[in-house]
Amino acid sequence: MPQGFTFQKFGDIEAAVLSDGVLHATYDPFRGLDRAECIRLVGRPDKGVGSVRIQVNAFIAKFGDKLILIDAGCGNTMGPTLGHLAANLRAGGVDPSKVTHVLLTHIHPDHSNGLVDANNQPAFPNAEVLVHENDAKFWLERAPESGDDDFVTRNIAAARRVLAPYLTRLRRVTNGEALPGVSAYLSAGHTPGHTTWLIHAGKDAVLFWGDTVHVGPIQFAHPKTTLIYDLDQQAAAASRARVFDWVSADRIRVAGAHLELPGFGYVTRKGAGFAFESEA
Ligand SMILES: [Zn+2]
Repeated sequence: MPQGFTFQKFGDIEAAVLSDGVLHATYDPFRGLDRAECIRLVGRPDKGVGSVRIQVNAFIAKFGDKLILIDAGCGNTMGPTLGHLAANLRAGGVDPSKVTHVLLTHIHPDHSNGLVDANNQPAFPNAEVLVHENDAKFWLERAPESGDDDFVTRNIAAARRVLAPYLTRLRRVTNGEALPGVSAYLSAGHTPGHTTWLIHAGKDAVLFWGDTVHVGPIQFAHPKTTLIYDLDQQAAAASRARVFDWVSADRIRVAGAHLELPGFGYVTRKGAGFAFESEA
């Protein structure tokens, strides 16, 4: 049964989390923190695939006359525990053809493969897709190099396939306001164009921060912990530190692609690191 979703009202912004499902991962991808400490923080035994469960979220926002999707889930490409976004969208009463904009935090399978359906037809036939120009260049234009990791080669192929139907309505952005009240902030490292998207109206704001955090129990306490999938490990850690400083100092509500449901909350300082206050 699709869970659907419920809009929450944050002033003039209405937003909802759309669960795409759960990614069954291991303790292998973490870098910069002892494996034993990762296991202790996550609190689940080290038993291979499924030891670490990573929630995968997209978000939908009603803002002015726009219906904005932030990221698009995995589509049918990552197994039966994922790919539920489309069903949840419909269960919540939203016709995908009514989506006016898709903001991509970055081009990665769990964020962009759901742009197309099983027949490679656009899942959001009337939407303009906005993505940072660094990600567009890296995933859509850069020639594969011999030293590329397998996951990079695979992701390049996937990126070209799922964005093909959108090329005439793909907008490459840089830092700044991309739509009225919708601003892009480059947060590079995980990918070259990884972007946090701020929707703001008066004193209300939500920062859709994509993959700023992959595993909350580890990375709030230890923000320097990276994942093998961060293309530039140092830049990813530095970007996370900058975003944590910003949203904790200004108490900005965040919405995370890999935060546990409900996916919204606030970052606070705690000891030498940070903590997350989930907003139920
Ligand atoms: Zn992700």
